[in-house]
Amino acid sequence: MNQRQSLAVVVPAYNEGEGLHAFHARLAPVLDGLDLDSRVIYVDDGSKDDTWAVMQALAASDPRVATLRLSRNFGKELAMTAGLDYADADAVVVIDADLQDPPEIIAQFVERWREGYDVVYGTRAERHGESWLKKATAAMFYRFIGRISPTPIPADTGDFRLLGRRAHQALKGLRERHRFMKGLFAWVGFRQVALVYQRDPRHAGTSKFNYWKLWNFAIEGITSFSAAPLKLATYVGVLTALVAFGFGLWVVGKAIVFGDPVRGYPSLMAVMLFLGGVQLMALGVIGEYLGRLFMESKQRPLYLLDVVEPARHDREPPLP
Ligand code: UDP
Ligand code: MG
Repeated sequence: MNQRQSLAVVVPAYNEGEGLHAFHARLAPVLDGLDLDSRVIYVDDGSKDDTWAVMQALAASDPRVATLRLSRNFGKELAMTAGLDYADADAVVVIDADLQDPPEIIAQFVERWREGYDVVYGTRAERHGESWLKKATAAMFYRFIGRISPTPIPADTGDFRLLGRRAHQALKGLRERHRFMKGLFAWVGFRQVALVYQRDPRHAGTSKFNYWKLWNFAIEGITSFSAAPLKLATYVGVLTALVAFGFGLWVVGKAIVFGDPVRGYPSLMAVMLFLGGVQLMALGVIGEYLGRLFMESKQRPLYLLDVVEPARHDREPPLP
């Protein structure tokens, strides 16, 4: 009987046709070197290039490869979710398809997992080949969310990690639509440990995240994992109301003592504009949360699968 433990590697990919062969060529020997029954689950996130064809070629040459295709581009978080839902193994690893996360690190993940950790996450010591602006904004974001989220979210940690079976099962139970995966991974808890690695430059193709996407991603992360902006809106509102009240008293007092010469248009405008601004800001914050509530209330499926091709090893199990 097959008593080996199993490992599934989930690889979300969007327009990665150019580099996927090279990725698999580096991943395969790593898996060969592990004493684990492994699978690689490639998830095509509605790519517009030849990613799906390349995945089929990889599946044809390697019986460990399973391939999923989403019905359109759902974004990395959901592509990852589809792969994690499909995976059924003692341990699962999530890794980017662009070789920014070195596949060789998986061997170290497995080592720590065997020591008894449920979650081993990769923390980036250095990020090579990315602009200072991206590094700076990413660093700021991780510090900020680390401070305001009640769930501690480790800094400089991407999605590259290993989950043991119970952490993986727990994660599968989190079905919220607004999926900030770094937060969800952390929320699960259990015994977690960091593993420091060097993040390499992307070896082919270009990043799928521009600054606008990253900004939205940051808002997603903050509003999904913290109600701090709502509280902040309240405090700013209260503070402004106090100042406005004080100013009102002063204006009335002045008019009573010195009479009212009917000037003060500038101060009136200044106060009105300021109050209007604060109100709109608070409404905006409330709107962000309301919008999320609205989306959650629809209870739509998180993603739709177009094609599912199990690994050949699972269709025709090798004879004992
Ligand atoms: N990705 C995806 N769907 C998307 C965007 C990205 O599956 O809509 C995948 C992409 O193919 C890669 C990983 O997510 O494997 C990380 O993306 P990328 O390298 O563009 O992000 P960066 O490293 O620049 O933050
Ligand atoms: Mg990348």
